[in-house]
Amino acid sequence: MARPLKAVLVTIGLLVMAIVLALAIGPASLEKSMNTVIPHSPFEISADAAALHRTLVIGDLHSDSTLWNRDLLERGARGHVDIPRMREANAALQMFTTVTKSPRGQNYQKNAADAADNITLITLLQAWPPATWGSLTSRALYQADKLHAMAEKAPDKFALILSAADLNTVLMRRARGEPIVGGLLGTEGSHALDGELANIQVLYDAGFRMMSLQHFFDNALGGSLHGESGAGLTSFGRQAVDKMLAMGIMIDVSHSAPQVVADVLARSGAPLIVSHTGFYGHCQSHRNISDELMLQIAEGGGLIGVGFWDAAVCDATPAGIVAAIRYGIDLVGEDHVALGSDYDGSVNAPFDISELSVLTHEMLKARFTETEIRKVMGENMVNFLRQNLPSS
Ligand SMILES: [Zn+2]
Repeated sequence: MARPLKAVLVTIGLLVMAIVLALAIGPASLEKSMNTVIPHSPFEISADAAALHRTLVIGDLHSDSTLWNRDLLERGARGHVDIPRMREANAALQMFTTVTKSPRGQNYQKNAADAADNITLITLLQAWPPATWGSLTSRALYQADKLHAMAEKAPDKFALILSAADLNTVLMRRARGEPIVGGLLGTEGSHALDGELANIQVLYDAGFRMMSLQHFFDNALGGSLHGESGAGLTSFGRQAVDKMLAMGIMIDVSHSAPQVVADVLARSGAPLIVSHTGFYGHCQSHRNISDELMLQIAEGGGLIGVGFWDAAVCDATPAGIVAAIRYGIDLVGEDHVALGSDYDGSVNAPFDISELSVLTHEMLKARFTETEIRKVMGENMVNFLRQNLPSS
């Protein structure tokens, strides 16, 4: 073989090996660096808390686990959520939210709508199918497929919940002692519609039952809490919201500009979800929604998921999260506060889902009533879903 040809072949061979290695090792180390747990010694859980925890129906409103290449049927050595760890936590329900675009230099103050996108790189690095490289709808659908595949592969362990009837079935099976958990699908930002109202139906057909309107940048529906415009709902946004509600899709305003939240409240009268947040009156971070808006959301029958990370609660410890929950209950009442971890959402969490009983322990210690604990840990989520999911 001629020397130059051999050199070219060796170079190509090395390149292929480098790409294979990047794809094999890259996604794992990428996730490992982004979904971290604050180092801590094992939490001590009182016998009372452990006993109460075992009787709770537990649900969480926000986890981005489908963004990462990880088999959620296996107990992971990285990240925060998977089915085995949900079972260890006695967790019954998880809303899986699909991230489809996030701006380079992402921050809570101000992001340009045309900033370069981080998720494109993540799709490439994780070798997602070519359809997902340019289409945000495809990215949401690809993540939904993971949950469908899981439900098909392990129907004894995981069910995708599409209706109130499905929810009741999962809860009934759990009450009979079956080791099953239920998942629901939501979007993180309705740029996942790729600007087409018709894609609301496409995503609904794929199982999406909650849609958040914005993420970190202003989009075709309106302003983001972290965007440049502070704008309310656009005409496209009004049409999208009307269509979502008419179809039985719940609306999440977690990252929406205050004017968008006010516009949706004024427009629909439908109860809203804030799937992962903190209360501004408790933690003055630009990530959080004002107490005034939170009160209006609760008055409209809404549900507010308290996050587990620093910018949401200003003290990412079990006691700190419980203090935020206490503030929320005192502000909006015990029927409107839930868990909204933001697990696997590039956050540094104080504990992964398997250690969730530490919240029950801290709530008992902080003299929460048993009813308050039951409601926050999952009953409020169950009630909200029963009232707002399509019935069958
Ligand atoms: Zn988020």
